Amino acid sequence: AKKRDGKNGAQVFNNGMLDDARRRAEIEGYIENGLNEDWFEAHLQPIVNIEDRSIAGFEALMRLHHPQKGILPPKSIIDVAEETGSIIRIGNRIMEKAICGLARMQQIEGMQDAYLAINFSPIQFEPALPARIVSLLDRYNIRPERIVVEITEAVLMDDNPEIRTIINEICRFGCRIALDDFGTGYSSLSYINRFPVDIIKIDQSFTRAINDGSPDVRRKSRMLIESITTLSHKMNCTVIAEGIETEEECATLVSMGLDYGQGFLFHRPQHPDVLLEMLAGTQYHIHGSVAQA
Ligand code: C2E
Ligand code: MG
Ligand code: MG
Ligand code: MG
Repeated sequence: AKKRDGKNGAQVFNNGMLDDARRRAEIEGYIENGLNEDWFEAHLQPIVNIEDRSIAGFEALMRLHHPQKGILPPKSIIDVAEETGSIIRIGNRIMEKAICGLARMQQIEGMQDAYLAINFSPIQFEPALPARIVSLLDRYNIRPERIVVEITEAVLMDDNPEIRTIINEICRFGCRIALDDFGTGYSSLSYINRFPVDIIKIDQSFTRAINDGSPDVRRKSRMLIESITTLSHKMNCTVIAEGIETEEECATLVSMGLDYGQGFLFHRPQHPDVLLEMLAGTQYHIHGSVAQA
């Protein structure tokens, strides 16, 4: 940071740094307590076939459930946890809760083949990860094909040979790989070529753009999604649209040939207990007709 002239500038600068450090320390405290007191939860958001809206799988999303402050969203926690390294312990906790959640979902008829997608930060790909996944699958009696490891370009861009080896090992025992937030960073379809990617998740900024903004932006976003979808299908990848909120968005995505979708239009992320009750209440079938929300 540059040295600032004048008293006000210096004060703003110092207060900003203090606020930042204070906020960070506060979050570190939540993380430490959260691990000790078991405040971390793995909420599940259904991923649906956008044509008939049957559930194909679930994405596990980290939540820190503070007894006084309520449920804290993951972004700020993940940033701090990646810096301090606690994301590894948190991630292991989330993985276990999510896989346990998937096992419980099997109480609902038709959910026996539903898959579970779990998000991973780059530093979570440590040598111990594959064995940890295998032991959880054993414990909950889940086939590895039902687990999808969601990675972002940040993981692939490093082109770190150790990470590559670990991802390949996870694939070898049958888990699948999804490329998350596609279209945001330096997305390149060459990743599909270099990595055993099975699923492409198109970022929600694209889902917004297909019906928002100027006709020009709209037209170009649609062409882009359509091209990505065609190419992905040729490479045997499933395409998912993230963040679908309206019927209009869903209809457009169906017409463009996307496979699956995820968004508030269908289901919000929920604690497995809540989701179980909801799905049981609506007699939701995975291969059934359109379910009632
Ligand atoms: P993501 O993997 O792209 O997850 C999708 C995000 O979109 C989730 O945000 C979800 O709640 C949100 N979402 C789903 N449907 C809609 C919709 O219709 N509209 C809008 N506006 N949002 C929707 P969330 O739960 O806040 O998670 C944010 C990010 O944090 C995730 O993005 C993922 O990158 C990361 N994350 C979440 N859980 C974990 C975890 O267990 N481990 C790691 N390493 N990262 C995680
Ligand atoms: Mg994700
Ligand atoms: Mg995503
Ligand atoms: Mg996203």
